[in-house]
Amino acid sequence: MRGESAFQRLKRKLGERGFSPSSLMGQNFLVDANLLRSIAGTFALGAEDLVVEIGPGPGSLTRELLATGAEVLAFELDPRLGAFLIEEAAGWEHGDRLWLVLGDILERGRLSPRLFEELSARGAPPRPYTLMSNLPYSVAGPVLANLGLCGAPPARVACLVQWEMGRRLAAAPGTKEYGPLGILVQAAFEAKIQKRVSPQVFRPRPKVDSALVTLRLREGARLLGWAPERREAFGRFLRRLFAARRKALRNGLKGLGWSGLGLSSAELNRRPEQLGVEELLGLFHRGFVEEGLDV
Ligand code: SAM
Repeated sequence: MRGESAFQRLKRKLGERGFSPSSLMGQNFLVDANLLRSIAGTFALGAEDLVVEIGPGPGSLTRELLATGAEVLAFELDPRLGAFLIEEAAGWEHGDRLWLVLGDILERGRLSPRLFEELSARGAPPRPYTLMSNLPYSVAGPVLANLGLCGAPPARVACLVQWEMGRRLAAAPGTKEYGPLGILVQAAFEAKIQKRVSPQVFRPRPKVDSALVTLRLREGARLLGWAPERREAFGRFLRRLFAARRKALRNGLKGLGWSGLGLSSAELNRRPEQLGVEELLGLFHRGFVEEGLDV
């Protein structure tokens, strides 16, 4: 229809199909054209880039990503939106650079093996790839926690998450937001909140603000050089240690059956939440690798 905005057109076309958004699938669509363009412009993408998008939905961000010339590998859980996206993309600039996988990005709490098969088919790794997503809130935590653990992490990430989760991703030691999620992410990436985003730019509107967060892979980060079992054990170590985040470290270590680790009494009196990411990696290494203790 003439005079329709992109969002009005989308609403009409989805309405004609009897589509209504599912809150269970975190379907809060981005409708602000300026924000969509600015997110797609975060990393100056070009024809040589490979982008993974989790949850393309009806494709408002996907279209902007394709316009950069990048190849886009998208994972969408909802088959109604998948079918809609395929039809729409046929008329877009570089629409033939979109590869859509219909399915869950997670399998048993881990990133789906299908993601790594599809990446490998496109040469990644060693080819670097970028992850861009308006992440459905229901999977944001497990997706982000697994990025550094997965063995083929993205070189960079730009994602929209709920504001509180953004704070946790970029949290510093000693703050109430600091915990296993942020530590796992920061052990592999530099994390930064780029901007706070109001509920107004989504339809339907979520109840809380969002954060646009960027992550950049820390080349040479020691977590990335570890074998998969050791990375997984580090995740378990953090979860168990932070179950008593405000108690002295000596209690947390005792709970793990890891006594002392040769630390001084002053060190053992510190609380887990006061330890920086490198200190926690070092502590884990001492117990798990040097002393052969299990988690
Ligand atoms: N990218 C679109 C946008 O910005 O308007 C949609 C974002 S919406 C917040 C989240 C999208 O993720 C929805 O399309 C939803 O169906 C999809 N989704 C939800 N859970 C998913 C999962 N486990 N795996 C893949 N996609 C998922």
